Formats: sequence, C-alpha cells, structure tokens
Amino acid sequence: MLRLDKVNKYYRVGTHSLHVLRDVELEVADGEFVAIMGASGSGKSTLLNILGILDDYDSGEYWLGDTLIRSLSEAKAANYRNRFIGFVFQSFNLLPFKTALENVALPLYYQGVTRRKRNQIATQYLERVGLRDWAEHLPSEMSGGQKQRVAIARSLIGKPRLILADEPTGALDSETSKQIMDLLSEIHRTGITVLVVTHDPEVAIRTQRTIRLRDGKVVGAHEASLSNPGMPVAVP
Ligand code: ADP
Ligand code: MG
Repeated sequence: MLRLDKVNKYYRVGTHSLHVLRDVELEVADGEFVAIMGASGSGKSTLLNILGILDDYDSGEYWLGDTLIRSLSEAKAANYRNRFIGFVFQSFNLLPFKTALENVALPLYYQGVTRRKRNQIATQYLERVGLRDWAEHLPSEMSGGQKQRVAIARSLIGKPRLILADEPTGALDSETSKQIMDLLSEIHRTGITVLVVTHDPEVAIRTQRTIRLRDGKVVGAHEASLSNPGMPVAVP
C-alpha cells in the first residue's frame, strides 16, 4: 500500500531548522490496521500529513502504491488524495453551517456530482455510520461521537483505499472512543487500510500493529494484537 524510505522533514522557523522526521522507514501493507504512537511533538501529525500528501518532505522517498509521491503539483496531489485517501481528525473539521448530510456529501460536490445524486449517496453513508435520522442536523446539535461519525462517513464517500485518522478519539470519552474504534474496525474489515495516530493504548490495542515515534524517529514496531499478550503496550 505505502512505503517510506529514509524520509526526512525539516520545518524552517526563522533562521532555525527543526529536524522533525529523521530517516523514517515505514511499510504498510494493503488492508493493514496500524496505530502510530508517540509523545506530543514527536512528529506524528507531520508523518500523517506527508502520508496524506497534505505536506511535502525534504529527502527520502514516499511510495503510495506504485507512485513516487514527491514534489507533486497541488492539482496532482489533490487528485491522488481524492482517489486514494480519506481523512479523520481529532476536531472533526466539519463545516459548522452545513448539515450532517451536506458535510458528508461535500467531497462529491468537488467531484461535480449533481446535488440529487450526492444527497442520495451521502444518505447511504450516514446510514452506514448509524446517523440516518440526523441528516438535517447541524454539527452544533450533535455530540462529539456523532460528529466524528459524520466525519468518518465523509472520509468514506470517495471510496478511499486508505483512511488516515489523527487522534480520532482525542476529544471523546472512553465509551465513545470505543464506539469510534468499533466503526474503524468495521471499516478495516471491508478491506480498507487504516492508520490511526493515538495517545491512547486502548485505541492502539484495537489495531494489528503499533509503530512508535520518538523525536521524529521510528523506535521499533511490535504487534499490539491480543495474540501477543507478552509484548509491552506502547505508552507515549
Ligand atoms: P505530534 O503530532 O506528534 O504532536 P507534530 O508532527 O505536530 O507532532 O510536530 C512535530 C514537531 O514539529 C513539533 O516540535 C512541532 O512544534 C513542530 N511543528 C509542527 N508543525 C510545524 C510547522 N508548521 N512549523 C514549524 N514547526 C512545526
Ligand atoms: Mg499531532
């Protein structure tokens, strides 16, 4: 599905240069469910943004399928994003003055799908996340868990092969987090590759594998599945 080979990323802050990702090596197979853990500031979001082609990197190689993702034009990057990748964020990133249905349908609007057709498809995706009756509600009328379900429905509507979720349960209580992980597990079972950045060991343990970042370096990967109870749980 994707591979990073000695990827480095720097942020230039004034005259200084911050080395945020250091020779990151990473391979994720088709259909995997992977957690990325690490302390705040360790480079998790930067890594996810590179994987999502929302940001570029300075050296190394990022292969998405058979394509080298490097210094793409914004049009090309957007094309790959729309065809391959769905995003889920901690703060949901819903448009506040759009209904749940309109938020889910938004990616189809950018694809030029007619209003009637996109509402029809968006209704199916809302139903899939258990929110059929909430179609006409605004985000402000919904709970955090419901808003994240709307965001997940929106991430799925373009039929992505890869879902990138940056702390998707970071703003939710533990019971709601569990429900969101149930939903992501269900999505994973349909064959979609899922990468979840998290601080929460309870979230990581629901995935098949945990990758740990420390100061921009991958510090070792282990199976987090219950079939490996002897392995230590990654704690940031
Ligand atoms: P995490 O998601 O693990 O908390 P980030 O990837 O957000 O970490 O950040 C990694 C490091 O890069 C941090 O030191 C952060 O302050 C810095 N950083 C992140 N984004 C920028 C940016 N746009 N400009 C400058 N520094 C940044
Ligand atoms: Mg982050």
